[in-house]
Amino acid sequence: MSAFYLVDLDAFAANLQRVRAAVAPAAHMLVVKDDAYAHGLEAVVRRAWAEGVRWFGAFDVATGTAVRRVVGPDARIFVWLIGGADDLTAGAAAHLDLGVGDEALLHDLATLDLPTPARVHLKIDTGLHRNGIRPERWDDALEVASGLVREGRIVFEGVWSHISEASDADDDDARRIFLAARDAARAAGLDPRFSHLAASAAGFARGEFREDLVRVGAFSYGIRPAGGPGEAELGIEPVASLIATVTAIDAAGAHLDVGSLHGLPSTLSGRFDVGTPAGPRRVEAIGPTSTAVAPWPDAAPGDEIVLFGRRALCSATDLAELVDTIGEEIALRVAPALPRRYIGD
Ligand SMILES: *Cc1c(COP(=O)(O)O)cnc(C)c1O
Repeated sequence: MSAFYLVDLDAFAANLQRVRAAVAPAAHMLVVKDDAYAHGLEAVVRRAWAEGVRWFGAFDVATGTAVRRVVGPDARIFVWLIGGADDLTAGAAAHLDLGVGDEALLHDLATLDLPTPARVHLKIDTGLHRNGIRPERWDDALEVASGLVREGRIVFEGVWSHISEASDADDDDARRIFLAARDAARAAGLDPRFSHLAASAAGFARGEFREDLVRVGAFSYGIRPAGGPGEAELGIEPVASLIATVTAIDAAGAHLDVGSLHGLPSTLSGRFDVGTPAGPRRVEAIGPTSTAVAPWPDAAPGDEIVLFGRRALCSATDLAELVDTIGEEIALRVAPALPRRYIGD
């Protein structure tokens, strides 16, 4: 294969240290959804565990169970996409921390015969309306949860939410709703051990949002926010690079066997430069399976070109900004079929 995605786990480890310092004394929950932001779940989780990460945010039960297989029994693994009774059963069997944002799931829990109590983090909808229990339904949900605790069906582990991180004012409003919900839980005799609502941006920038856990995905992988602070200011570095070797050279340029089907948006044609042995050259055309780079003297098959990411001229977020999207959008497009290679595995 003449193209691959190179993931530097030593750089990842440096980001983990940085995130840990930035969110302390809250704990870092490493978010590993979407195959660890396309970096490869297993290698990322294994290294994170070795680096002392003890909380993982896995999105769905299948991913959470996969994380469990990698890290063993002691990690805490939070999942928040739970489809129904089967997911609850499988999640409890894998001792996952279940983010419950739907009253129907509480009613399911009342009927399931689980071998051990389910670890529940109840989600308050603080304005995103994705899921989460609406404030006007919160007291009812607390009552159901209290009953489940009394019956030994659940352990009430936490209260959580997700915020937009799009404006401080919106986030402040969300936080007020969150704190009121937590107070209500305490008043109902449910003592959440873990409160969490922030992701990368608020976790770094706004101390009052850190609470007990900060669910950091993007910054852990060195993906800075579009239009926001740079990597140096944040103290993070890109972890992965999309690399391809030159396979042919003609009048149109040096050709790489990587294209839009591998995740490089064709809308970036003519819009960014890559480093070559002779200095920066423009990426002229991105086709489905090939890319042409403006030629340079002595270009030769086998020359390695770093298209974006670590040690490239452009990061994922730099490319994203050219097409008005966010860095995750570029990073997550890197096709699963493209081999992952690791430094430091
Ligand atoms: C994706 C996600 C995160 C992580 O967000 P980043 O901005 O990548 O740090 C945190 N919490 C939830 C619920 C998420 O879906």
